[in-house]
Amino acid sequence: MSTEKVRVRFAPSPTGPLHIGGVRTALFNYLFAKKHDGDFILRVEDTDQARYVEGAEKYIIESLNWCNIPFDEGPGKEKDAGPYRQSERKYIYREYAEKLLASGNAYYAFDTTEELDKHREDHEAKGKTFIYNWHNRQKLKNSLSLSEAEVKQKIEAGEPYVIRFKSPEDETLHLKDEIRGEMTIETKILDDKVLFKSDGMPTYHLANIVDDHLMKITHVIRGEEWLPSLALHVLLYRAFGWTAPKFAHLPLILKPQGKGKLSKRDGDKMGFPVFPLEWKDPKSGAISTGYREEDYFPEAVINMLALLGWNAGGGTEKEIYNLKELTEAFTLEHVSKGGSKFDPEKTKWFQHHYMQQAEDQELAGDFLELLKEQGVNSNKEYVAKVIALLKERVTFLSDFWELGSYFFTAPENYDEKAVKKAWKEDTSEVLDSVISIVEETEDFSAGNLQEKVKSWITSEGIGFGKVMQPFRLSLVGAMQGPDVFDIAAAIGKDETIARLRTAQEKL
Ligand code: GLU
Repeated sequence: MSTEKVRVRFAPSPTGPLHIGGVRTALFNYLFAKKHDGDFILRVEDTDQARYVEGAEKYIIESLNWCNIPFDEGPGKEKDAGPYRQSERKYIYREYAEKLLASGNAYYAFDTTEELDKHREDHEAKGKTFIYNWHNRQKLKNSLSLSEAEVKQKIEAGEPYVIRFKSPEDETLHLKDEIRGEMTIETKILDDKVLFKSDGMPTYHLANIVDDHLMKITHVIRGEEWLPSLALHVLLYRAFGWTAPKFAHLPLILKPQGKGKLSKRDGDKMGFPVFPLEWKDPKSGAISTGYREEDYFPEAVINMLALLGWNAGGGTEKEIYNLKELTEAFTLEHVSKGGSKFDPEKTKWFQHHYMQQAEDQELAGDFLELLKEQGVNSNKEYVAKVIALLKERVTFLSDFWELGSYFFTAPENYDEKAVKKAWKEDTSEVLDSVISIVEETEDFSAGNLQEKVKSWITSEGIGFGKVMQPFRLSLVGAMQGPDVFDIAAAIGKDETIARLRTAQEKL
């Protein structure tokens, strides 16, 4: 292997929010770079002004930061290879288009949009497809068919033109993809793509290749949708006389159900986000939720995305990987060729796992904020205790409130089914005894209280459920939650007695 430093780039176009498929592309680039002590570059491909969306670049950067996969070089982190926005590199591309003209690998084309449309229509009428390439370029309006003087005259007269790539007429190209292996392509089927537009801007193809070369990119890791451009890109490298980077095209992320690529519509329909962060459409004002706003941990999202199309190989069943472990385990060889189905339930499974790993103290800070929104004032110590009791059942921060509001406010009503089941004629009397035991218990710990209540139950010879069910119902308002004695100890002696009395009155 060469000693050349690994440099990869994530090259989104700022045309809207970053889809989680884009986040996965960025992640795989990041992992590959870090694994090889290389550089991860963010390049903003904003040459298409018509599709430019305000705020998209900021959104992309914020997303990468939230996911903990920051770039080493890019807008705002300028290094030698900058600037990193193509709009700021405009002045560079013309020169390269001219190099291709000079070497005979590109040509001027003067065909107007109307003329090209007409050719397309004529072809369609005959059941054919119009392709601008070797088989008709001599008959179209370009510097291959016109004389040098005519071309000069047109350019001087200010006639609009584009610069097209002159693809080889009849050649078998051997291409290599790090994931898919070897492929062959007949150049006959390629069209002469526009490299430089009449508005003086390069197209994606030219800018992308020139920048990858100038930025010393060693590996291009991108989505499968760019595979059809690979032949042109390889031909461009050859035409410039440059060594091409290695290419790896990542498989698609597929819909949870049915066929095709995962889309925003799937998320809307099934109720899961397809964006890392909330996105507000600047035009319509419509808001799409993100994983961050839905209270997912970035670790869970990253872990889930990493396993969409990659596995560590060796038949491992391991699914939990933090970023460091991912970085160590990641290889392009173990990226799959086929698409992977997106599974929203699996994302929740990862989230549940990372919730269990989170520190109670850290969660307590966030939960306190959430409690404030509910009008509840508490303290961190108590909240951390509640978290420890509930965590096992919790996936999202908001679940702590859903599942444990009774730790903060007494139940206002009681679950009807539970009442029917637990509240009998003599229950109030039974609870009188429980209240007495509670009152007499000096050391109000869960263990101590449990011992006292249980030994009383045993000595009385009454059914366990007969006591414990109404006890729980009085404290919680339903038949759920952790151990009743833990709940009693947490809310305290006075509150326990108060809730038992209230239940006696109300039920
Ligand atoms: N600007 C392209 C995109 O939006 C980049 C494709 C590539 O990585 O070459 O995905």
